Parts: sequence; structure tokens; C-alpha cells
Amino acid sequence: MDTNSSKFSIHHVVLFPFMSKGHIIPILNLARLLLRRGMAVTMFTTTGNRPFISESLADTSVCIIDIPFPQNAPEIPPGVESTDLLPSMSLFFSFCKATKQMQPMVEEKLQGLVQAQPVSFMVSDGFLWWTLESATKLGLPRLVFSGMNQFVSCVSRAVFEDRLLDGAESDDELITVTRFPWIKVTRNDFNTVMPNPNGPTMEVFIDQVKSMTNSLGFIVNSFYELEKVYIDNWNSEKIPKVWCVGPLCLAEPELEPQKKPFWIQGCSVLYVAFGSQAEVSSKQLQQIAKGLQESKANFLWVLRKKESESILDEGFEEKVKGRGIVVKQWVDQRQILKYQCIEGFLSHCGWNSALESICYGVPILAWPMIAEQALNARMVVEEIKVGLRVDSTCNGMKPGFVKWDGLMKMLKELMEGEMGKQVRKRVKEVAELAKMAMADSDGSSWQTLDMLINELCNKKQ
Ligand code: UDP
Repeated sequence: MDTNSSKFSIHHVVLFPFMSKGHIIPILNLARLLLRRGMAVTMFTTTGNRPFISESLADTSVCIIDIPFPQNAPEIPPGVESTDLLPSMSLFFSFCKATKQMQPMVEEKLQGLVQAQPVSFMVSDGFLWWTLESATKLGLPRLVFSGMNQFVSCVSRAVFEDRLLDGAESDDELITVTRFPWIKVTRNDFNTVMPNPNGPTMEVFIDQVKSMTNSLGFIVNSFYELEKVYIDNWNSEKIPKVWCVGPLCLAEPELEPQKKPFWIQGCSVLYVAFGSQAEVSSKQLQQIAKGLQESKANFLWVLRKKESESILDEGFEEKVKGRGIVVKQWVDQRQILKYQCIEGFLSHCGWNSALESICYGVPILAWPMIAEQALNARMVVEEIKVGLRVDSTCNGMKPGFVKWDGLMKMLKELMEGEMGKQVRKRVKEVAELAKMAMADSDGSSWQTLDMLINELCNKKQ
């Protein structure tokens, strides 16, 4: 049953997620929330991403429209329809650029939809900048789905508008963010946020930013109680408003209670995973393996396929038998984090992973790698205080190469130490706030989504 209200049943919403798991998964849950308001939902995707979406939404009435991904896109290997599968993340913005070739077909399908049943609004990912033009042609309000939290958006905006990085003498010099003086950042924190300013893909980045600022507002996977200061700050400015409607993972249906799966052994288990995009060198993987091995911790380590090949021949799994397990396939991370025995998460701090960890009360050992993860790590460690960082000695949140003994020290601290105790206590408190935010009718996120729908649906009538 995916509806509990008919308040908005005459309304129809189009969702269009970007092609990576970290952007698709939250939008699947947004679809569920809209269905629960009684709305009709159509989701656009590419043919290659359709099976994952269809399977995830099999119990719902979401209509899925898939468009073939361009096969002749410069630099993108044929068959790659998700940034998770790119041979290198340096192709990320080329991938974004390639999506624009889908525009004519998306518009043809949208036209057909609008004729069959009026569409109230469209929510599309910030990386799909050209969808603003498509929505505008058909007279549809377009909201941007932002994959970031408001702390990161506000800090980035303040740093760029006030040109704070220009004054830094080195990449790891701490600079005070004048609009939020309790926050300090380094140039390192921003090094992987933007493409090379002189490279060919900078143009796409600028188009994306322009399209966001000309859209109606942002849907953000976060909640008011987590980052009031930044949400209020943003919404007090004359810029497109943010609507925090999360944590979206809490809209996922509860699966049948399962027995603890065989691969989780013992209690007090550390979960280790670096998301779907980060590239970890084999030298670094070997240090992680040694750190886990020497720490004697119980652990569950999820590796991407490419990575697993580089450590297997070392006989690592044999050495940690009985207390550690390596999984070499896609797992359902939210289900893992829900197990009581998972008591720590060594994470790259992708925003979804960080938020999921918070929602399930699991403290984080932050190891940011790419994109805006260094800023997420600052938020997790310094702002919300639900985690520690992997290299406690570095000022910058981008620790670079970490040796096994440093890693072992911090993971022991997280799992057994005094600082670990404090962040564990705090994360459980924040998890409660997250649940309350998502509560039907009363929760702040529930109410925010209702307000947004009311505003947009009334506008269209
Ligand atoms: N995820 C998962 N299984 C995996 C790896 C990732 O379910 O084996 C999910 C994870 O729960 C999260 C998303 O994929 O919802 C990853 O998003 P995140 O923002 O954490 O990182 P990204 O992959 O975008 O770097």
C-alpha cells in the first residue's frame, strides 16, 4: 500500500535522478513520500539504470520512463550509464555533459505526459542542468534535487562569495569562515569540489550552477533539527529556497525482520565502506587491511569489484577468519547499518552514508576522499560531533595516505575509547531527532514537504 492520503491525488510529479546510486537512492524514497500524499509519480531514467529502479520500487505505482543513454558520448566507454562505473572520476563532468544528448527525447516524453495528465512540478538532479530548459518549455516549475546538505552549501557559498581561499598561504592553512566564524576550512577541503578551472568541463559546472540559481528551489536530504542555522541562513536570502524533507532513508519500507546474516560475526562490529565512487589505491587498501588485521576488531568490509582483486591474493581473508569478513558485491547498506551489532562506520562521508549512519545511531570514523566529502567530514566531526576523523593529526580534512598504525589507533578509539563513547552517545540522540523529523503529520520534514506541495500545486491550479 503506497498511499495514505488522497489530499493531493489529482496531482502528478515528475522525478529525474542523476545516474549514480548516491543520487538515485534518495529520490526513490522521495517518490515514496509523494505517493503517500496520494500523488501520481513518474520517474525518468536511462535504460541501464531502469532495472535497479524498477526493482526498488516494485511495490509501488511509480511509472518509470527510460531513455537510451547516448552511446557515442566523447570519452565515456559504451555501456557506462552510471558514474559508479566510470573507469576514472576525472570523467565525471564529461559524463554530465553527455546526458544533455538525452534532452530531445526527454522533452518528447514529457510533452506526452503533460497532455495525458497535468504535471504539477518536476524535481531533477542538480547535475542535470538542462532539465530546467525542458521544464520551462512545458510550463513546469522545476525544483533541484541537491545531493548535499545545507552546511556544505552555506559554507561553500560563503567561502566563494567572500573569496576566502585567495588569502591562504598553503592548502592546509585553516581559514575562518567569516559568516560562520566557528567554522574553519582549508583549501584542501575544496580541491575536489569543482572541476579544473581551466579544463574543458568547467563550462558544464558553470551551466549547472546557473540552472540551480534559476530554478524554483532545492529539495535537500536533511532535516531542520540537524542544521537549523544553515537552513535559516539560506532561506533568509533572496535565492531559491531550500526544502529539507529527509532523512529520506527513513521513508524506506521496513523489510521483514531478518536474523543476523551469517557474515556478521561477533558483536561490536566495524562496518567499512567507501561508497560507490571513491577510488582507493591498492597500496592504501593494503594499509587498511593491515590496520584491520592488527586491530583485532570485528569488521565487515565492503569492497568494490575493482578493489577486491588487489588484496585477495595476500591471503588476508584467511588471516582474519572468524572476526572479519570482506564482501565483494553490492550490499544493502541501510540494512547493514540497522543491525545492533554494527557499532562503528569507517566511511568516506558521502552525504547519504553519513546521514544513514546518523539515522541508525552508528558513530562514524570519517575518511573523506572526493567531491564535498571533506566538508561533510567537518560537519560530522566538528559540527554535529557524531564521529572522529581517521587522521587526527592533520588540520585539513583530506588526510591523503593513511598508514595502518594510524588507522588502527583511531578505529580502536572509535570502538573502545573515551572519544568513541562520547560520539556514540551523541549519535543516538541525533538519531532520535531524525526519527521525529520524519514522523507522519508532526515531523518537521513531513510538514515541509506538505508546505512545498501545497505551494506548488496551488500555483498550478
Ligand atoms: N550503497 C549501498 N551498498 C553499497 C554501496 C553503497 O547500498 O554497497 C548505498 C549507500 O547506502 C548510499 C549510497 O549507496 O545510499 C551511496 O551514497 P553516498 O552519498 O554515501 O556515496 P557515493 O557513492 O555517492 O560516493
